[in-house]
Amino acid sequence: NADAALSRVKSQGRNNYQFYHSAINSQASELLSLENSLHYALEREEFIVYYQPQINISTGEIIKMEALLRWQHPKLGLIYPEKFIPLAEETGLIVTIGEWVLKTACAQNKAWQDTLGLPSLSIAVNLSARQFQQSNLVKLVTQILLETQLNPKYLELEITESIAMHNAEFTKAILNEINNMGVYISIDDFGTGYCSFNYLKKFPIHALKIDKSFVRDLTKNSNDAAIITAIIALAHGLNLAVVGEGVETEEQRNLLRILECELMQGYFFSRPVLAEDATKLLRKSKSRRLSASRLVA
Ligand code: C2E
Ligand code: MG
Ligand code: MG
Ligand code: MG
Repeated sequence: NADAALSRVKSQGRNNYQFYHSAINSQASELLSLENSLHYALEREEFIVYYQPQINISTGEIIKMEALLRWQHPKLGLIYPEKFIPLAEETGLIVTIGEWVLKTACAQNKAWQDTLGLPSLSIAVNLSARQFQQSNLVKLVTQILLETQLNPKYLELEITESIAMHNAEFTKAILNEINNMGVYISIDDFGTGYCSFNYLKKFPIHALKIDKSFVRDLTKNSNDAAIITAIIALAHGLNLAVVGEGVETEEQRNLLRILECELMQGYFFSRPVLAEDATKLLRKSKSRRLSASRLVA
């Protein structure tokens, strides 16, 4: 009858409510403990920088490595940035973590340049919003470049459109200082944030990285192809380099090449790898270049 049905619904509701509540609680406590261990992760040396190559498609050479952070958690295993960077942002821990990434990546790039004889290899490092708002960012970058002896022109800082557009005057001032040091600046995940063409004109930017969401269905979806075509034309018109991100297949590579996207990054070439594996990739890339030049000579 109706009464029984009603009380069943009510009790279910209560159970659902409890279930829902405990799910939230366990999520909250998971986050809390993650936050807690994030505090110690740096001193416990649990962070690892992975490197993913960027390829100049006309020569096949690796011209740059992008530093991508991972957290080797003692209990939870390898944790990806999407899971802990937002937490690190909220707590402000990203500032010291980001400093460590920058130093590690610059030192690694300098070591590769010197030991592998690759003097013009570059390193790209991602900056988060919070890091960008630090008043000592420019000083910090200067200091790290001095310490690691890396020439500023082989460092590239990647920022997203939302960082760039948030407080545009401030951003412009900082970017100008960074640019004056000789450090390169690229816009990451281009096309997914608010992009204002106005700022592309005003900011000292060197490259656009086409977001991987456009590359994913590039060969199947004519809208994605149209957007990518437009981004590449925009970049070329503004004299910016353009990087296709998230290239996973030969078809994507071929189509991007036809569209005159000269730089590419993605699983098709290599996943992000540990420094020692990146060293092997760089050795191979160099010997390919040497044999290519011998063929020409
Ligand atoms: P991002 O800078 O756009 O980096 C590209 C992401 O795409 C990386 O994810 C990379 O592993 C992934 N990727 C590369 N090639 C492919 C592909 O062919 N297919 C697919 N599906 N994915 C591909 P990851 O390493 O998980 O990093 C995610 C994001 O976390 C980065 O996006 C970046 O915004 C942020 N991040 C990573 N390291 C740092 C860091 O040191 N500091 C800051 N602030 N953010 C970081
Ligand atoms: Mg990036
Ligand atoms: Mg990206
Ligand atoms: Mg991203």
